[in-house]
Amino acid sequence: MPKVDKKIEAILRKLTLDEKCRLLSGRDMWGTAAIPEKGIGSVMLTDGPHGVRTESSHPSRRSGPATYFPTGAGMAATWDIELLRRLGVALAEETKAYGCDVLLGPCVNLVRSPLAGRNFETLSEDPFLAGRLAAAYIQGLQSRGVGASLKHYACNNQETERMRGSSVLDERTLREIYLPHFEHAVKEGRPWTVMCAYNRVNGVYASENRHLLTEILREEWGYDGLVVSDWGANHSVFASVAAGLDLEMPGPSALYRHLPQAVGNWQIEEEQIDQAVRRVLTLAARAGKLGKGVGRARGKGCANTPAHQKLARALAEESITLLKNAGGVLPLDAKRIHSVALIGLNAAGVPQGGGSSALTAPYLVSPLRAVRELLGPDAEVNYCFGCELSGKAPVPSINVFTTPDGKWTGLLGEYFNGGVCKGKPLGSRIESTPDIWLVAEAATQAFPGLDFDNMAVRLSGILQVEADGPYQIDLDVQGSARVWVDGRPAFETRPFEPDVGWQSGKAIVKLKAGTRHVFRLEYIHSPPGTPMHVRIGLGHGATGTAIPEAVALARRCDVAVVFAGFVDGMESECYDRKDMRLPGAQDELVSAVLDANPDSIVVLNTGAPVEMPWETKADTILQAYYPGMEGGRALANILFGKVSPSGRLAATYPRRLEDNPTHSTFPGGRESRYDEGIFVGYRHYDTRKVAPLFPFGHGLSYTEFTYSEIRIPHRVRAGQPVKVRLSVKNTGRRRGKEVVQLYVGDPEASVPRPEKELKGFAKVDLRPGET
Ligand code: BGC
Repeated sequence: MPKVDKKIEAILRKLTLDEKCRLLSGRDMWGTAAIPEKGIGSVMLTDGPHGVRTESSHPSRRSGPATYFPTGAGMAATWDIELLRRLGVALAEETKAYGCDVLLGPCVNLVRSPLAGRNFETLSEDPFLAGRLAAAYIQGLQSRGVGASLKHYACNNQETERMRGSSVLDERTLREIYLPHFEHAVKEGRPWTVMCAYNRVNGVYASENRHLLTEILREEWGYDGLVVSDWGANHSVFASVAAGLDLEMPGPSALYRHLPQAVGNWQIEEEQIDQAVRRVLTLAARAGKLGKGVGRARGKGCANTPAHQKLARALAEESITLLKNAGGVLPLDAKRIHSVALIGLNAAGVPQGGGSSALTAPYLVSPLRAVRELLGPDAEVNYCFGCELSGKAPVPSINVFTTPDGKWTGLLGEYFNGGVCKGKPLGSRIESTPDIWLVAEAATQAFPGLDFDNMAVRLSGILQVEADGPYQIDLDVQGSARVWVDGRPAFETRPFEPDVGWQSGKAIVKLKAGTRHVFRLEYIHSPPGTPMHVRIGLGHGATGTAIPEAVALARRCDVAVVFAGFVDGMESECYDRKDMRLPGAQDELVSAVLDANPDSIVVLNTGAPVEMPWETKADTILQAYYPGMEGGRALANILFGKVSPSGRLAATYPRRLEDNPTHSTFPGGRESRYDEGIFVGYRHYDTRKVAPLFPFGHGLSYTEFTYSEIRIPHRVRAGQPVKVRLSVKNTGRRRGKEVVQLYVGDPEASVPRPEKELKGFAKVDLRPGET
């Protein structure tokens, strides 16, 4: 028996039943339970997957905000295994910098429908691609002593009915489409933890699904790590432990705390509890939290270093996908360009998807800033917001705010008892979003002694924007509030009354780029019994549209770039999109800009496909996904040819939603029927001959490649790997990267099979003339 197992057994023998059961659920939101006197420390988990989410309330918060890397959709579009491994290493360093042991990622649920809310966070519609990338990410992370959490196992492909919906599918579809990437990542990556999904699979909650958690994961794949519930995904006291769920999160425990009674009632054997405890102890051992040195942090780690910033940029550069370059407008020649029009909200920002993965970045480089940096002071770089995406000003990235002391990204939140912001606050924290939502339990946990139903909150910070102009500040609050900008009252809702309820207000204020505007908001929560909610929207150019201004700018400038897509949180955990269209008047905006200047470049910021009714008019289209905090620089480098694009689509872009195989079944109700079976993504479009707008694997370059000497063995043996070799030559004039993709089909299958399936890929970097 290995030494560590002996140690685990020795500790296990000393634990009482109560102690064992205590270990099976979290101590709090992010930590596992500790029993220091028995040598067991708390393992700290934190959200990923594209950066460390350091909530200000996170007990282990140590240093400033963490690097915001491109989200899953972008990671997948790199098709670069080595890069994902390097990302894993960097994420491990950042996780350690925050005193945590496990990063909750990668997220690998397949893109089944273009509408699924978490598509932006995940790795592709293809299990082969997702599996390879996930394994590399996990290996990188764990090579530095930080655990991964492969999530969400399994068939978690939509947000509608996310806590109780059932994914209904046959075993073949499960095995061929929804599990191979988990299997590969488990076998090759050996993640310390696997997170089970919220949903049910064929009627049985993933958290108590023995078929998934024990028969497949452990017995077939030989998984030796721990299964943790998604936050709140456990629904039973003993059925889940018996099925293979080890750790209930978050704590304090909702259900596992009743386990001692369940053992007493012979509903579950103590041996089954022991099995789960062994896995918790194994996790603790891996994290260095077992035995001597409990609680000692291993290695300091580091966050937001220049190397990580560079890696964030490299990932974005390798993910950005050139969908179309028909007129050869790209790359632009910086020497010949004197004026640029950047149009659309995301020209002046860097969006992020919403939900648990959203993080606070130390800074965001917008395309506007990056193009100005790149072209220098002599070029005229203009910005027009184009149009708002909803009637309301969008919630801005938290990065527009810095705390009053200038040290942190975010707003300083000061919490007062007595319904008025006076005197010394009971407590304070840094708010990591301008859309604050807090329930009584979490509030009183964060601020013991807080009288939640009679409290007031002051939010203050420095507000900085990237472009001059009028801005609309929108306020939605559960209660009443007042806002000051630069010390002057900007607006207030109806004054406080005990039952005032949900209120909105708006103001137009003039803000200047680069100026440190002082922002203050005072909020009184009411009525009692409701959660606290403060949503601060900030829209450039007030709301509405500025299409005529955008058109005039596009006409006047040497080059126009129009940004379309989503702003923060429009694609998000918790909800799916209703249709595949661009929100607001964006189609009209893009179309009008293209009419004014047919050479205009369209840049998309989405994590999933959108319909592009203007596509035939557009010669140049780039997909930039959610490119992370260095995204603007990456995009500028691509636009101006410093880097040749090498991203490839990791999901098919259909012309219209109706072409997608799930369109009549998605999202379904309490049941979501996977009637398309194995024909997911390109497997459907290829086989059924439905021409997509842009196919899976598509992406252009500024250079050209030719393939030759393709060698494929004539005979292959069942179960044996097949080696395919070929030469790739860069026959163009620029350095560039090519993604070679190998697909396999089975023309004589006895069951319906896709025309082709991805079975190999490699990304190569070649100088002109190089083979
Ligand atoms: C999400 C997980 C996340 C967890 C903890 C859940 O709502 O589904 O992906 O890791 O919350 O924040």
